[in-house]
Amino acid sequence: MMHKILLMGPQGSGKGTQAEKLSAQLGIPAFGMGQLLRDEIASGSDLGAKFDVILKRGDLVSDEDAAQMLKQRLAKSDTQNGYILDGYPRNLSQYAAFDFDTPTHVIVIDVPREESLKRLGGRLTCRGCGRVGAMADGLKPGDLCACGGEWYQRDDDTPAAITRRLEIYENDTSPVIAKYAELVKRIDGLGSVDEVFEKILQVLSSSQPL
Ligand SMILES: [Zn+2]
Repeated sequence: MMHKILLMGPQGSGKGTQAEKLSAQLGIPAFGMGQLLRDEIASGSDLGAKFDVILKRGDLVSDEDAAQMLKQRLAKSDTQNGYILDGYPRNLSQYAAFDFDTPTHVIVIDVPREESLKRLGGRLTCRGCGRVGAMADGLKPGDLCACGGEWYQRDDDTPAAITRRLEIYENDTSPVIAKYAELVKRIDGLGSVDEVFEKILQVLSSSQPL
């Protein structure tokens, strides 16, 4: 069965983790645009070289160029049974650029703002290796990671910064979700990773793709 899945949700919804689990379960690749951009640059392609210049200049890759990269990636043979897009398209401009394919499923993981704040606000990053950890697991700022680096809270993990990102998600992504209204299945993102995953699998098995 073909699964072309768009996985949406605010930061802190756990959609990255769910995308990985779905990828393993369905045997289809999962893509996030950030990683695709890094892979494209690492590949040494003409498009990657162009992105490298743009990003080093401190500019953003245009939605058209990003969509062109995605189109090329989705044409590779490992997507013959489908793919998962993690957090794309995230606004109406990206939605317009994503005009070369039609998803079969649009899954939105809903998490209340307070829960996102709780999850993300407790996030610490290691200065040494870049690993991400949770204060909920007993880590404190200033503790040392196994690599010897110090755990700290990044500026963009402060409550004000998280609130701003959540507002951007609500403003920009809600119109995209509305465009896909006929395909959208909403999942309650509260609960354990496995509980949320189970709900996603139920939605996939009960919905008829186009
Ligand atoms: Zn470390």
